[in-house]
Amino acid sequence: MVRNASLVQDIARQRIDRLINMAAEKASSRPDLSRRYISMALTISRRTRVRIPRSQKRLFCKKCTTFLLPGKTARVRVRQHRSPHISVCCLVCGHVKRYPLRRSG
Ligand SMILES: [Zn+2]
Repeated sequence: MVRNASLVQDIARQRIDRLINMAAEKASSRPDLSRRYISMALTISRRTRVRIPRSQKRLFCKKCTTFLLPGKTARVRVRQHRSPHISVCCLVCGHVKRYPLRRSG
């Protein structure tokens, strides 16, 4: 239903937010539950076409849905190779994400 689309997306947004917060809380004590919350958030996001905000997207590995804790489940490095960037390596599946460092302002 077209009229309810925005309402559905509103609820979806709230659920995604809550799931990611829950995943953050359980990240070190219950990594299995944490992964489950992330994959639920991703499913909701796909079904309702609600995008996960960039700030939250960086928190987990999109390949294996592990919550990325620097020093524990992720290795974070600043690299100067080519253009300066931050590389975040998931220690569970080895997936690497790179974020370019842009001069702000
Ligand atoms: Zn991973």
